[in-house]
Amino acid sequence: MRVGHARAGEDPVDLFIIGGGINGCGIARDAAGRGLSVTLAEMGDLAQATSSASTKLFHGGLRYLEYFEFRLVREALEERETLLVAMPHISWPMRFVLPWQPEMRFAGDTPTARLLGRLMPWTRGRRPAWLIRLALETYDRLGGRRILPPARPVDLTRDPAGAPLQPRFTRGWEYSDCWVEDSRLVVLNARDAENRGATILTRTRVVAAERQGDVWHVTTEGTEGRRQHLARALVNAGGPWVARIIRETLSLPSTEGVRLVRGSHIVTRRLFDHDRCYFFQGKDGRIIFAIPYETDFTLIGTTDQDHHGAPDEARCTPEEQDYLCAFASDYFRQPITRADIVWTYSGVRPLYDDGAQSATAATRDYVLSLDAKGPPLLSVFGGKITTYRRLAESAMARLSPHFPQARGAWSARVALPGGDFPWDGAPALAEGLRRDFAFLDERWALRLVRAYGTDARNLLGSARNVLDLGRDFGATLTEAEVRWLMRHEYARRAEDVVWRRSKLGLRMTSDEIAALDDWMRQASGEDRAAGRAGTG
Ligand SMILES: Cc1cc2nc3c(=O)[nH]c(=O)nc-3n(C[C@H](O)[C@H](O)[C@H](O)COP(=O)(O)OP(=O)(O)OC[C@H]3O[C@@H](n4cnc5c(N)ncnc54)[C@H](O)[C@@H]3O)c2cc1C
Repeated sequence: MRVGHARAGEDPVDLFIIGGGINGCGIARDAAGRGLSVTLAEMGDLAQATSSASTKLFHGGLRYLEYFEFRLVREALEERETLLVAMPHISWPMRFVLPWQPEMRFAGDTPTARLLGRLMPWTRGRRPAWLIRLALETYDRLGGRRILPPARPVDLTRDPAGAPLQPRFTRGWEYSDCWVEDSRLVVLNARDAENRGATILTRTRVVAAERQGDVWHVTTEGTEGRRQHLARALVNAGGPWVARIIRETLSLPSTEGVRLVRGSHIVTRRLFDHDRCYFFQGKDGRIIFAIPYETDFTLIGTTDQDHHGAPDEARCTPEEQDYLCAFASDYFRQPITRADIVWTYSGVRPLYDDGAQSATAATRDYVLSLDAKGPPLLSVFGGKITTYRRLAESAMARLSPHFPQARGAWSARVALPGGDFPWDGAPALAEGLRRDFAFLDERWALRLVRAYGTDARNLLGSARNVLDLGRDFGATLTEAEVRWLMRHEYARRAEDVVWRRSKLGLRMTSDEIAALDDWMRQASGEDRAAGRAGTG
């Protein structure tokens, strides 16, 4: 891997991108693939902020239909399958079971609730069954669905999905969306960007940038100290920091703001025995998901609360934990309490401030703001994981007048690293891996395929037995895998490996994680001494 050595006096790069979340890395990949020179700086680890704290769904967002966000829902629905075929290792189809009860209510301030209140006042804020059916039909038709099966009614008195639920839930529907490993999506975009010529700097904070003539002078601070970079255009993909970057790092006046909305999740031991998710509607008009997670766990979320602290201080509060436990306990036969929680995580949605009254009602659509008074500055507000590729295309469309040499849009359905196999080919790939690496058991092989796809073979190399993979850090994490993550996926610390490149932190003890961290610090030092260190 390259180390970015840009210094004042050198040729400027075309794009300098601030922020290694999904939007920064998606734009880096798209721009590099069009032939532009790109440097990206991330102040911590890739996906350390919002892009590892999502619900991890490639989805249209069924509930946004209630807000008449048809453009956003259509674009996201169309993207689901485009993305699925480009990354069949880290993304897969999921079915969502939506139990129904007559007293289910809208959040009071949705346009649909207001319209229904005027036309059919007798519904008194309730979400009628016919409306949910209509919404699911619209959801099925809006977005060019080819692979995913359509919605259908479910008799919960007979279907196994009814078994873990309270007996009062007798009917419902199920519909399709997709899962995605959010933090792996970010790192694979960064890797692909680098394969196409970009320089990715992690643990490198942009501390200042100013226009001088035709170029931006960007100052970064990282493990190698302070450095200067020159760029023809600057992209601010700082997520929850986007507005602060404009005002404080770039010292530019701006009235544009982000609304920080915290979303927290809880993880419990597995609560049910099938592979479908639940979509639960609450008494407050909100919805949460209960999703099969990492084979042995269930993921429940999310909350939606205005966040007033620093973006990196988002934590799942005891009140949020109680809220999610109570919400899910209204549905499951077996009540869920705080004692069932094994892990929580929390992130901050950087939503464009459109003046909506409630956090739930604030738009999830993205806004790209171009300041072309001199060398251009493009700032990214909002967005969803699901629409990151489309957002990157729109960003390049806005910047293209400044880069007439750039090639056209190219990224739809182009495989991310390791994703060059059919969308439903993961089980076959895992079987093939077990045939050739007989020491892998079924779970281990599938874990490697779900993380690395066709690259799993490259990671295992010529290993003939488990000892060939080097030190065993616990939970099937071996030295060979950690070395791969350090050399190809920018991992520097144990937390990068156990919470973002994987979720093995759910299975490893704190002593094992500490031992991994010690080993990685030492190995980074050795790599640096040998001139092998790539980024950061
Ligand atoms: C609870 C929750 C659930 C969600 N669920 C879904 C979902 O299921 N599906 C979906 O499609 N979307 C979902 N989203 C939305 C999605 O996660 C976000 O829109 C997306 O991750 C935002 O990515 P980003 O790159 O803009 O921001 P981030 O991921 O926050 O990246 C910004 C990066 O900029 C870096 N940075 C900031 N300042 C500097 C600086 N000065 N120098 C260098 N680096 C800097 C930060 O460290 C950070 O890594 C969810 C969001 C939340 C919060």
